[in-house]
Amino acid sequence: MSDTLLTTVIAVTIIGAVLIPYILHTSRKEKRAKDRFKELQITGLHAAAAVHPHIDVLNCIGCGSCVAACPEGDVLGLIGGKAVLVHGAKCIGHGLCEEACPVGAITLLMAPPGRSANLPVLTPQYETSVPGIFIAGELGGLGLIKNAIAQGRTAVTAIAARGPQIPGVLDVVIVGAGPAGLAAGLTALSLGIRYVVVEQGDVGGTILRYPRRKVVLTSPVELPLWGRLRFMEASKEQLLATWENIIRTTGLEVKTGEQMMDILPLESLFRVRTTHDEYITRSVVLALGRRGIPRKLNVPGEELAKVVYQLIDAESYADMDLLVVGGGDSAIEAAIALAVQKTNRVTLSYRQSEFTKIKERNTTHLRDMVRRGRLTLAMNSVVQEIREHHVILATPEGRKELKNDQVFVCIGGELPFGLLSRVGIAIDRQLVENPRTA
Ligand SMILES: Cc1cc2nc3c(=O)[nH]c(=O)nc-3n(C[C@H](O)[C@H](O)[C@H](O)COP(=O)(O)OP(=O)(O)OC[C@H]3O[C@@H](n4cnc5c(N)ncnc54)[C@H](O)[C@@H]3O)c2cc1C
Repeated sequence: MSDTLLTTVIAVTIIGAVLIPYILHTSRKEKRAKDRFKELQITGLHAAAAVHPHIDVLNCIGCGSCVAACPEGDVLGLIGGKAVLVHGAKCIGHGLCEEACPVGAITLLMAPPGRSANLPVLTPQYETSVPGIFIAGELGGLGLIKNAIAQGRTAVTAIAARGPQIPGVLDVVIVGAGPAGLAAGLTALSLGIRYVVVEQGDVGGTILRYPRRKVVLTSPVELPLWGRLRFMEASKEQLLATWENIIRTTGLEVKTGEQMMDILPLESLFRVRTTHDEYITRSVVLALGRRGIPRKLNVPGEELAKVVYQLIDAESYADMDLLVVGGGDSAIEAAIALAVQKTNRVTLSYRQSEFTKIKERNTTHLRDMVRRGRLTLAMNSVVQEIREHHVILATPEGRKELKNDQVFVCIGGELPFGLLSRVGIAIDRQLVENPRTA
């Protein structure tokens, strides 16, 4: 063999040894991404519901840095050598993909109107078009705990700077005790202004409803009277325990189990009506989040942590006894998505005898899942009680006890836009580019 031929053979072998595994690895990843995308299209979870990365396909070089950077796992994938939004509904706006992209081909956008984006018009201090009413946190359109905290702090700092105080009148009523409301309350406490925090449920906000265990803080956050939240990753239970510790240590008062019902203008002040009281205040911070007020079953055991009102990540449930409650598209889509995981045992409970007003494609998929034994329908059934490891259903055949690990209540809810419009807060219904203002 000539030297040239030998060199060529060696070169080809070396290139092949490196290139072939790389090509195989890449095509396996691409196949996974394609399969996942197809699967999520069935339930509509491929589409974004809020903030999400928009990929400029002409500029994307398909390097995969964005895919690797995403802490949520499969929001993005590489298909046909380009980054693609595979699991849009799972995106919560960390924005690390945007930072990781070496060619600037990613921009964070809000989902188009109709899927969710109704954004209040806000000043840099998060004041709405109604002077004195502020919106902090996710209701303003930007996700993440760090942003909610920053906005709650900014809004109340602006309120405190407005003085002078009016005798017998609160400086601020803060509605909601998620990260934005808690940060707003701590700021009010630290600046010595008169505040009330009302929360319809328990302290913690959306975090309480996470179906998954890990919470990721992509950068450290600073809380008034407390300092830096040190962990970058925590379980939802750890984060909630930290909030409770902060409240205990700082003496922040939160009126839990008190829902804000209305805000009425009162000359230059506001009268805030809640389920328990009425407050006269010169300003209001709405830190209501974007989950809306989910309709509840109002049955014993509904307060258990295993009861959630939204399915975000169907993949995180495997080999579980799951109950989905509801008869609309969201309940059916959740049940189908959970039943895709073959090891799950999924029951869909609906109080009517048939599903009406659901999308045709959902009817087809539902029938198919039932026929294949992947999903059990409990029609004309009503949840009576939720226990740690069981649920009790009232059915036409009598009381049934089902094994249960998790309950998904998908019986609708209301976003607070009715209230915002009633109060006169201007809402921008346009697609918003790069909503990052924090
Ligand atoms: C599954 C999932 C995982 C996520 N993971 C992360 C993560 O890892 N890291 C991260 O940074 N972010 C994460 N997020 C996003 C983060 O949870 C939200 O951006 C953040 O909680 C928003 O805070 P908020 O205070 O604006 O609203 P919320 O946390 O939604 O709090 C709003 C509060 O207002 C209360 N409320 C609403 N209406 C009323 C009323 N009328 N009267 C009284 N109270 C009312 C609600 O009960 C609620 O407690 C995740 C979100 C989801 C859904």
